[in-house]
Amino acid sequence: MKPDFSKGLIPAVLQHWTDHTVLMLGYMNEEAYDKTLEDGVVWFYSRSKERLWKKGESSGHIQRVKSMTLDCDEDTLLIQVEPVGPTCHTGTKSCFGDEPASPLLSLEAMIRVRQSDADEGSYTNYLLGKGLDKIAKKFGEESFEVVIAAMKRDREELKNETADLLYHLFVLLREQGIDFNEVEQVLHERHSKKNNFKGERQDVEKW
Ligand code: AMP
Ligand code: ZN
Ligand code: ZN
Ligand code: ZN
Repeated sequence: MKPDFSKGLIPAVLQHWTDHTVLMLGYMNEEAYDKTLEDGVVWFYSRSKERLWKKGESSGHIQRVKSMTLDCDEDTLLIQVEPVGPTCHTGTKSCFGDEPASPLLSLEAMIRVRQSDADEGSYTNYLLGKGLDKIAKKFGEESFEVVIAAMKRDREELKNETADLLYHLFVLLREQGIDFNEVEQVLHERHSKKNNFKGERQDVEKW
């Protein structure tokens, strides 16, 4: 069922699809609604920008639609989403709270944006353009540098090399089309299995 746009904009509440956090509120006109259905990511009509606004268009912090529900009198939308990165432009998970979003998600979002603006000439763009062999080689080099820094017990070098390693890991995952969400899902499953079968699992080591 489509909302009635004849009386103007419709408010749309974004809610995290798994933990149900209320993330933000935006407004939609009919075009934003149609584009949201078409793209599977949230579009709004921005009252301040006075134009259609794809949430995440510049930040990369898009919102993937999981479900859309109209309220009782069909004038408000509840959209359950899988956010990519922080939903709020201040860097927090939600516009209604101060819980920080994972900096790793911001790194992932930055890489996604670099991938899409093809003419930028950034290092990320360069790496993705070179392809898997180059990216894998860089990742290998950085892991070696992490090991060297650790052997030297050089804390500053280890922090720097770890940052390099994580960055190249995220570029590698991007090249493979894997979202960090999917990795988090695996971690989450391992964690819950570990708690369910304390000490009984051989395939997942205790950590
Ligand atoms: P984005 O759509 O995430 O690329 O952000 C583009 C611009 O939209 C930001 O610079 C902010 O001005 C605004 N913006 C982004 N996210 C929000 C939000 N959750 N609430 C209000 N304004 C936002
Ligand atoms: Zn209503
Ligand atoms: Zn906000
Ligand atoms: Zn390095």
